Amino acid sequence: MFKSIQWKIVIIYFLLVFLAMVIVGAIIITQMEQYLQDNLVETLDKEAQILSVQIRGISIVGAPDIQRIIERWYEVSLSPQIREVYVLNTERLVIGSNVQGANESYIADILGADPPTVLHSSLTGRKETEVLRNEGGQMYIMDYAFPVKNNTEQVEKIIYMRAGMAGVVATLDKAKNILTSATLLALVITVILGSLLARSITGPIKEVTSKAEKMAEGDFDHRLEVKSTDEIGQLTQMFNYLTQKLKTTLGEIANEKGKMESILSYMTDGVIAVNVDGEVIHINPAAIRFLGIKDNIQGTRLGDMFAGIGIDLDIKQIKKRKPNQESIIPRGDTVLRMETAAFKSEHRKVLGYILVFQDITEQHRLETMRREYVANVSHELRTPLTTIRSYVETLLEGVIDQRELATEFLSVVNSEAERMTRLVKDLLLLSKLDHQQTQWNKTRFDLENMIDETVRKLDIPIKQKGHTLIIEKITTLPPFDGDKDKIEQVILNILSNAIKYTPDNGRIEVITGYSAGKVSIAVRDNGIGIPEVDMSRVFERFYRVDKSRARELGGTGLGLSIARQIIEAHGGEININSQHGEGTTVTILLPA
Ligand code: ADP
Repeated sequence: MFKSIQWKIVIIYFLLVFLAMVIVGAIIITQMEQYLQDNLVETLDKEAQILSVQIRGISIVGAPDIQRIIERWYEVSLSPQIREVYVLNTERLVIGSNVQGANESYIADILGADPPTVLHSSLTGRKETEVLRNEGGQMYIMDYAFPVKNNTEQVEKIIYMRAGMAGVVATLDKAKNILTSATLLALVITVILGSLLARSITGPIKEVTSKAEKMAEGDFDHRLEVKSTDEIGQLTQMFNYLTQKLKTTLGEIANEKGKMESILSYMTDGVIAVNVDGEVIHINPAAIRFLGIKDNIQGTRLGDMFAGIGIDLDIKQIKKRKPNQESIIPRGDTVLRMETAAFKSEHRKVLGYILVFQDITEQHRLETMRREYVANVSHELRTPLTTIRSYVETLLEGVIDQRELATEFLSVVNSEAERMTRLVKDLLLLSKLDHQQTQWNKTRFDLENMIDETVRKLDIPIKQKGHTLIIEKITTLPPFDGDKDKIEQVILNILSNAIKYTPDNGRIEVITGYSAGKVSIAVRDNGIGIPEVDMSRVFERFYRVDKSRARELGGTGLGLSIARQIIEAHGGEININSQHGEGTTVTILLPA
């Protein structure tokens, strides 16, 4: 309580007034004491003058006269404070007194002590006074000595008086009491006035403080009333201005923050912000989704958070990272790329780090596919090349002279070269389809005719394998708009597969039909079929169920993937259905 400015002001005022009153009081009391003493001395002087006139010239022998004079004088004296009066000769022998039995004794004997000091000076002709105090320092007696001189200015007698000082002391006590009461009253008034004055100063300060408290809670809507033009008024005005300024600035900051938060919330990259101690200060929804972490992890340590999801990464490692350093973090089916950067204050002091996560699963998949593709292409080309080289070398080593064997070898070389040509042709076509560079030569043509022609083209291999090929037209097909050559290529690929993967003397059916705006072409065989596990992958490039067998049969592993790409480019779909060991049906649906 006493720490408040109000109380400090009151205490200062109190002490000032108290000090002033004490000093003034001390001066007044001292002055008053002096005045009262002087007054008493004056009274004694007067009395001593009167007495001295009466006793001057009376010889010592006439002591009884002196005694009588004293008694008479004492009776009429108007100074009750004079208690004892002694007339002494120069030997300090009492020759008259108002004290019973004092005559003829030495004053020292009467007082039971050394002769009063005032007598020393009076013997030399000067009157003297002395105030005697008791052990507590309080005045109780005034000693007064008055020399009575004869005509030749010689001291012949001394009037020695002892006056009580109770009156003086009482007057002083009364004065002290009055002063104490006045001081108390002044102090009470000081406290009241001081606290009122202090309140007029602290009141506005308290108002400003309570407003500041409200501001700290986020309430900026109240203005303080400016009641004066003094410093407090200026402070209030300044405070109102500050409030307004702060409100505007905070509003701007909130807008910026809102903007930042929306950006962070809706951005596809995951962002985590940590302070230098590694405590998470922000994490956006993308980061939560990518890393599969709990929502409310604000304030947890980065190391703990990552440990919880099985990633070994903490703030120490982040601090050691170079700018733009990338890390790849596989998370289940997804692959994340992480980059970190420090964020700094105005004074270039590092305040924390930002971790940015990008989902590069697709990119990674494409990259892997590309690598596999290159490896597959190289492998597919190397096999026929190796065969060609070894056959040519054997021929060069002399087999060329054995006509029959040489012919056989050359036909192998020829078929391998053919296979390479096929492969390169397929690859080129795929590459064009991939890069959308294919020149689609779209015309209106008769699908049924085209299918018949294609079947005819495959007459020889069908016959060679003793297959029976049946074309079943459920409904007539409408004229079709598309790239005839490419569609023919698709039918060729599918039919070739049916021929290849069906053991000799098999049955191949081509079933065509049209319904609900769609042409369907199904190629059904009763061949070796495709195992369940491989079904989903037969449309992948270079994927072959039985690699060596397929290669033996001249397959490149690209036929179905080319077919799918061409059909999809025509807005259609291609599906495969198969029972391992029983047969396969490939169905094409094309909008027409
Ligand atoms: P390939 O040139 O090897 O025939 P495809 O892409 O045309 O390549 O076919 C991929 C794989 O699918 C083939 O290697 C084969 O294992 C399987 N396959 C395709 N069609 C049939 C079918 N009619 N019967 C059995 N297996 C087939």
